[in-house]
Amino acid sequence: MSHEFVYSGNPAHIVFGVGKSTFVGDWVEKLGCRQALVLSTPQQKADAEALAARLGPRAVGVFSGAVMHTPVEVTEKAMEVVRQTGSDCVVSLGGGSTTGLGKAIAFRTDLPQIVIPTTYAGSEVTPILGQTEGGRKTTVRHASILPEVVIYDPALTLGLPVAMSVTSGLNAMAHALEALYAQDRNPISTLMAVEGLRAFKTSLPGIIEMPQVLDIRAEALYGAWLCGTVLGTVGMALHHKICHTLGGAFDTPHADTHAIMLPHTAAYNAVAVPDLLAPVADVFGGSVGGGLWDFAKRIGAPLALKDLGLSQADLDRAAEIATENPYWNPRPIDWESIRGLLQYAWEGRRPT
Ligand code: NAD
Repeated sequence: MSHEFVYSGNPAHIVFGVGKSTFVGDWVEKLGCRQALVLSTPQQKADAEALAARLGPRAVGVFSGAVMHTPVEVTEKAMEVVRQTGSDCVVSLGGGSTTGLGKAIAFRTDLPQIVIPTTYAGSEVTPILGQTEGGRKTTVRHASILPEVVIYDPALTLGLPVAMSVTSGLNAMAHALEALYAQDRNPISTLMAVEGLRAFKTSLPGIIEMPQVLDIRAEALYGAWLCGTVLGTVGMALHHKICHTLGGAFDTPHADTHAIMLPHTAAYNAVAVPDLLAPVADVFGGSVGGGLWDFAKRIGAPLALKDLGLSQADLDRAAEIATENPYWNPRPIDWESIRGLLQYAWEGRRPT
């Protein structure tokens, strides 16, 4: 291991435990706020309204228009509500889409954020905001984007459908995997990444069998916190670049894309950094890519890009975009090797 590193932790309050979301009002007060705007997607509107009711006079309303990829038009509508209601903080209840909207508001206003995550995406612990305008996605990193308080309440994840739990969990695992070989990795990020992978290895098969067991849901949400934290503290490489390319150019679903690509990008990079990825082989058994693929298959994850509606011609274009701008990766990349990797992922073959 390298004995030189820089470690910078992100300053946020993390509150974890069954039932902890019922104390959200206390956190609004601890932040010195009195007029919270509750955010959600249209699908989680009823839950957001229940949360606002619990906040009582400390809530000024609900905006339930959050959608995937944080379009600027939606943020502007929400900003109008922020201005009209005089909101002094936001409470985001949901997955990465709702968290993204809260971050977009905070980036524009510096209002404090409380996030209550209900998926395993990990956005709640990163200072990163991805937003779309005119079909183009841009990413910004800024201290104002990092949520001040995150309340992880496993009870709120009981309703996350099993299929979404599986893909969302693999999405989180991808953050941990890339953290293991990140150029700016440090002993803490590596510990968190390995522990995050271990937590999902145990919990995802359990969720399939018993989705309503709180202890198992808690283990998965604990993994989500660990994996999200490393995403927020060290750099990502090939895997995230390919998933952003596929999502951005072909609108493939975020978590499914991560789930399908993970064994393939891991196998590709394992050739260059076998020692750094050895913990993955230890946790999942067998080779890095093969072990992850077997695990994904066992928990019923989607395995083939062709099932997301991509054509072989799309793969040519995706390989082009993914290799267009040089970026750091532990193993050099070129069009042929990325096209080959995408072919395996498209067919749903086990990586060799
Ligand atoms: P999502 O937030 O879009 O949620 C998917 C759907 O599931 C939504 O309809 C949502 O309302 C519903 N849902 C969420 N939790 C539920 C629950 N417990 N029960 C029932 N339904 C539930 O999906 P996601 O994968 O969490 O987030 C994806 C978005 O997050 C993408 O836009 C991605 O780019 C972004 N993201 C950003 C970062 C970052 O650091 N900036 C990190 C990860 C993901």
